[in-house]
Amino acid sequence: MKLAEAILLGSTITYQTRGSLFGFETFGFETEIVGSCALGSALLAVGLVNQKDSLLTLTVSKPVDLSTAIRRMYPWIMKAVSCPCDNCSEVDVVQNIIIHLNDHHAWERERTAEWVASVEQKEEVANNQEKKGGVLGSQKKNPGKLKSKRVLLPADK
Ligand SMILES: [Zn+2]
Repeated sequence: MKLAEAILLGSTITYQTRGSLFGFETFGFETEIVGSCALGSALLAVGLVNQKDSLLTLTVSKPVDLSTAIRRMYPWIMKAVSCPCDNCSEVDVVQNIIIHLNDHHAWERERTAEWVASVEQKEEVANNQEKKGGVLGSQKKNPGKLKSKRVLLPADK
């Protein structure tokens, strides 16, 4: 799955958070992720984070792994880019610009996904040969909840 698609897919199952990766809600004794920023949405969609993960499991055992894992899937998010907004001089790696657009410019996740798609496309043209096999296939390993709620994305047409 492309990162832009992952952001869109994740955005269909959560409300948008700003300033934090995820928003949690407690139902009885269980906590569920019900909100996510643009990056958090992607983490959910590719299965690196499960909606049933609690704040505790994420903050204690997963935070470092998450950064590493998302970079392994999408190495190009460590490339430096300029913020696409007018009148903004922010330059940072793609991963941080995604967070910056979400938190600082308050972009909707759909809009961020559109921008990510434009960056991703350039990367794909550059790496076309190596990427034949696609990303790690974690979607296949975790078809459960996300797949059942899947809606048609532009790329599905
Ligand atoms: Zn900016």
